[in-house]
Amino acid sequence: MSTIILKPGKDRRLRAGHSWVYVGEVADLTGDPKDGDEVEIRDHRGRSQGRGLLNTQSQIIVRRFTTQDEPLDENFFRRRLQAAFAYRQGDTCRLVFSEADQLPGLIADRFGDVVVIQALTLGIDQRKQMILRLLREFLQPRAILERSDAPSRRLEGLPETKGALYGEANGLTTINVHGVQFAVNLLDDQKTGFFLDQAENYRLVGERCAGKKVLDCFTYHGGFALFAAQAGAASVEAIEISAPAVARAQRNAELNNATGNVTFQCANAFDVLKQYDAAKRQFDVVILDPPTFTRTKQNVEDALRGYKEINLRALKMLPPGGLLATFTCSHHIGPDLFMDAVLDAAADARKTVRLVQRLTQAPDHPILPAIPETEYLKGLLLEVI
Ligand code: SAH
Repeated sequence: MSTIILKPGKDRRLRAGHSWVYVGEVADLTGDPKDGDEVEIRDHRGRSQGRGLLNTQSQIIVRRFTTQDEPLDENFFRRRLQAAFAYRQGDTCRLVFSEADQLPGLIADRFGDVVVIQALTLGIDQRKQMILRLLREFLQPRAILERSDAPSRRLEGLPETKGALYGEANGLTTINVHGVQFAVNLLDDQKTGFFLDQAENYRLVGERCAGKKVLDCFTYHGGFALFAAQAGAASVEAIEISAPAVARAQRNAELNNATGNVTFQCANAFDVLKQYDAAKRQFDVVILDPPTFTRTKQNVEDALRGYKEINLRALKMLPPGGLLATFTCSHHIGPDLFMDAVLDAAADARKTVRLVQRLTQAPDHPILPAIPETEYLKGLLLEVI
């Protein structure tokens, strides 16, 4: 077994429960392992810190899969997948969430009888056939698609790729998310085809929209808007900049017989919010679920200004009793920074807000507190009082 030996003190992150070893933390690599191979991790005194998969092309040179002394063979992956499946229920959900399921680099989503996987690391990429075998063994899906068209693959020295790995499927299907129908294209839509991470929040926020006048900014395929409509909103206006996304949202509204109370507008939400603010428009519920405004630490200040601007305009449109559901999916904006930006907006809008509920990613995207990166979706449900 090849061994990676850490520099003194560089075992701290692993001991605290994280699973990454950075290249700068390594004192020595013994044996002659190839990229993707299993390695044992030892601290500078020689004590074992578990086993992981090696990729010398990545800044994260090893991702630990186990703290125990056990081989990372097919049986190991079978047990890990079994544990991940046991934690989930339903036939439309995230089955495997990478580090949060102790399977770094592997994402698997189930959409009825189609499974979509992402292989985000070299170690997982090399084991794709084995993973397919196991997924077929457990789930007997009609098809398994791959959506490894994630830019982060480049950090692992891997090209972007997508397509059918097993079975016949063009990716077009209709899924049912808590009673709302969505037409999806699993080979072309964002990420693995659908934002399953918001499914719980669709329901939570939607339930509060009965009889209300709702504005859903950055709606994509109509997620929040359709749940609001389904819950009996008086009217829902939804804004989305991408024309194909608006066309799909419209189709989804038709699928759910919701065209009577939902309208979609293809526009820049920043502009619309500015116009509505100037026109002193009022809503009962405003939803802000923008794309990430920053992918790097350097842009955090700009991103915070962006969050402040949209939240300020939204809060100005809300009378007492009005609700703001506001989100950030940026890794670099933690819950405290996000709260500060929104509170800053509330102060400028001269609104007092009550925290109704903190919102996060759906439970099938579990959070490991020892691995902060597993928590990425932060939301606030606020009431103007
Ligand atoms: N709320 C959605 C997900 C939003 S993802 C859901 O739950 O499914 C962010 C969306 O914002 C994308 O669809 C993107 O096309 C859109 N978008 C990005 N910039 C925008 C802008 N300036 N104005 C309106 N929409 C924008």
